[in-house]
Amino acid sequence: MISFVETVWDDSFDPAIFAPTDPRRVRLRWIGRAKSPNPGPCLILTAGLHGNEPMGVHAAQNVMKTLRAADNLRRGDVFAFRGNLTALALVKRYIDRDLNRIWAEEHVEEVRKTPRESLYCSEDREMLELLGVLNYALDEASGEPFLMDLHTSSAPSLPFVIGGQGKQFQAIQDELNAPSVHDPKGYFQGSLFSFAERHGLSAMAFEAGRHDDEASACIHEIAVWTVLRALDMVEPTEKYPATMPESAIPADMSIPREIELFHRHGVRPEESFVMKPGFRNFDRVERGQVIAQDNHGYIHSPDNGFVFLPLYQQSGEDGFYVGRVARSHSGRSAE
Ligand SMILES: [Zn+2]
Repeated sequence: MISFVETVWDDSFDPAIFAPTDPRRVRLRWIGRAKSPNPGPCLILTAGLHGNEPMGVHAAQNVMKTLRAADNLRRGDVFAFRGNLTALALVKRYIDRDLNRIWAEEHVEEVRKTPRESLYCSEDREMLELLGVLNYALDEASGEPFLMDLHTSSAPSLPFVIGGQGKQFQAIQDELNAPSVHDPKGYFQGSLFSFAERHGLSAMAFEAGRHDDEASACIHEIAVWTVLRALDMVEPTEKYPATMPESAIPADMSIPREIELFHRHGVRPEESFVMKPGFRNFDRVERGQVIAQDNHGYIHSPDNGFVFLPLYQQSGEDGFYVGRVARSHSGRSAE
């Protein structure tokens, strides 16, 4: 169950500054803040942008509690916020629209200009409130901000990163034992990390594993501590909380270090799209290989590459993506 009361308040913080947002909503959104007396990077964690993904929220709560209890932040600030409050309370992915698909510039501008009481889409209200707390964190930052948006998925998957083009990212990627997926064609431009990147922040989404697997919360926590160490915000020798196995992020050397997406197969409901059984994230495919079918016939891979986000749930507009190697483990840019 998601707890809405495990909040680590900064005593100097007054939620009423977010007028006209209801201060009670700010309290619900706020997971915690840790502040070091020394200036440094500002790590902003967002969790539960999808309401059926509570493991990221658990992880963020644990990290904030540990940081506050140990008082061991060497420099900078850490903020953690819940994403889709209404959907989290109902354990639903979203209420009206997917909160991680609506961050296109024009839409954000429209939401920003609209009074809250005139926003009829539940996720537009969430967005407006999130913009409020994100701006607060950015105003408070004493160094370069880095956004880490925590997610899980419906199918089992190895942990992976999407995004991560910013300058702080290289150090982080070398520490995180997970492949990163780049999106040069902008398939994910409606996502929060992409919005943040467009506004000059270093940002990434981190996918830990299955929604209902408690190991996903553990992997999220390990990933956050890894980022804190990579950004030199905690001692390099700082161990994860003792209960946590250090090797919980499973490595798979057959998956390249960086993958660049070059193909998306979009799906419309009337096409009766069915993915061929058995594909997992990052499975290799060859040019011409049958990947799925719909009422127009078989759907083939346009080239050699790796399948990404194969659609096995009932609903969704993305059938699958195909990516190619951007950087292998040996550092080569193609295989
Ligand atoms: Zn998600």
